[in-house]
Amino acid sequence: MSLNTITNPIEKLNSTTLPTRITIAEGDGVGKEIMQATLDILNATGVKLIYDKVKIGEKEYLNGHSSGISPEAWDTLRRNKAFLKGPITTPQGGGYKSLNVTIRKSLGLYANVRPCRAYTPYVHSHFPNMDLVVIRENEEDLYAGIEHQQTPEVVQCLKLVSRPGCERIIRYAFEYARANDRKKVTCMTKDNIMKHTDGLFHSVFREVATEYPDIDADHYIIDIGSAHLATNPEKFDVIVTLNLYGDILSDITAQVAGSVGLGGSANIGDEVAMFEAVHGSAPDIAGQDVANPSGLIHASCMMLEHIGQPEIAARIMNALLRTLEDGIHTADIAGETYTLLRTGTQGFARCVIERLGKLPRRIKPIEPGQASEPIRIELKPTAPVSKDLVGADVFIDWNEGDRNPNKLGKQLEAIAGKDMRLKMITNRGVKVYPNGLPETFCTDHWRCRFVSSAEAETAQVAYRQVLELMDRLHKSGLNFIKTENFYEFEGRRAYSLGQGE
Ligand code: NAD
Repeated sequence: MSLNTITNPIEKLNSTTLPTRITIAEGDGVGKEIMQATLDILNATGVKLIYDKVKIGEKEYLNGHSSGISPEAWDTLRRNKAFLKGPITTPQGGGYKSLNVTIRKSLGLYANVRPCRAYTPYVHSHFPNMDLVVIRENEEDLYAGIEHQQTPEVVQCLKLVSRPGCERIIRYAFEYARANDRKKVTCMTKDNIMKHTDGLFHSVFREVATEYPDIDADHYIIDIGSAHLATNPEKFDVIVTLNLYGDILSDITAQVAGSVGLGGSANIGDEVAMFEAVHGSAPDIAGQDVANPSGLIHASCMMLEHIGQPEIAARIMNALLRTLEDGIHTADIAGETYTLLRTGTQGFARCVIERLGKLPRRIKPIEPGQASEPIRIELKPTAPVSKDLVGADVFIDWNEGDRNPNKLGKQLEAIAGKDMRLKMITNRGVKVYPNGLPETFCTDHWRCRFVSSAEAETAQVAYRQVLELMDRLHKSGLNFIKTENFYEFEGRRAYSLGQGE
């Protein structure tokens, strides 16, 4: 579509488009102000939306809903499919679960999409050609929220990564690249250390990439990748990564592009999608009419694209860019050179409304994509594989005397019995028995690896042997925390070795 045809698409839309019902929630802090500004702009375009407002956030937490959302709101969210959400303040202190994480996981919003583009010189950035999208896995990884204290000294957080979870987000990234005329997908992991979790993500990326020969694919270890992103973001196009890394990377990219107040984000699921600003509730500036509403305006445009109204999305984004170009800036992006009018939240919205139908002159305008069906990912069924139990790691809380691993080792060897054998003990992953180094610092948390006493290195173990071992450990008075069975899949080792094993 040519850009000239987007100046007044409303009459056509009004005659052909049925209204779409969406859910909105103001949230906390600056949420009320930026939502008002965003809805004023949406309404000024004549877009056909019906809003169902739900209450979420701090008040709901304090009303006794530990996830910050009332049970009735779920029905509205599930029925309407599209959700425009203001930021939420998660109260400090125990017992409160993050509402964002709860909504993303409960509604299967697996893909977090965060486009990030520089608007220089009007918004200062060192990288004028920066134009990238971070696609973050939204449901797994350390955000599974499974944490335990196991000994007086040690807590753990489980990092869960699944093959379907990896495949879905990686396919989404390639499909997104195709649908948005992007040329390259970069994967970032830490698979040199986490060979099984991050290793799975990287290997699925390699597999899926072969199905998209039209899109370049590369991979960075996350630490050097982040360094490149902070110093040379212009060379990236689409980045796909695991949940925690994506959370961090997308804030870095928003900041490097100019302001965390500008970015919008989409959380996409098969049925429901949620759209929000990248930033939080900004309690330090709430109620002052100074917050930049651009992030939520941007998110509302991502929502319009998602529900098949890309022309209106482009119309709003172009008016927003023109407003920035005309030097009309909120406090967070105002500067000496390009700011002609410092304005507040509602003033900025009024200036955007005045510019609806205009295109930016210097910044590349947004061209509406073809209205297409939202991306849907078909997963390949997981192939059946053989699975053989070859041992058990028993985690023990032990704090006797000088914590000499040799003492614990001798005691466990006696307990191992006839058909099991203590192979090693590690402390925080480092082998301390047999033949540990005296310099290794030991906590009260010991991982004790038992294998079959049969000669073969990877002889199978029966579950009964593990249960009998646990019984002997219990009778010996040792305090075991948990057992982690380990396996071979298709005859291949599917567990990590201890450092020094
Ligand atoms: P924040 O993004 O709210 O604020 C960080 C800084 O950026 C503050 O100085 C703030 O004034 C500024 N800022 C943020 N948005 C702005 C805007 N639109 N215009 C101008 N300046 C803006 O991050 P925080 O202070 O770490 O978190 C505050 C609260 O928000 C916390 O309770 C946190 O849990 C929550 N939070 C919610 C979301 C969400 O709902 N998606 C995301 C991040 C943080």
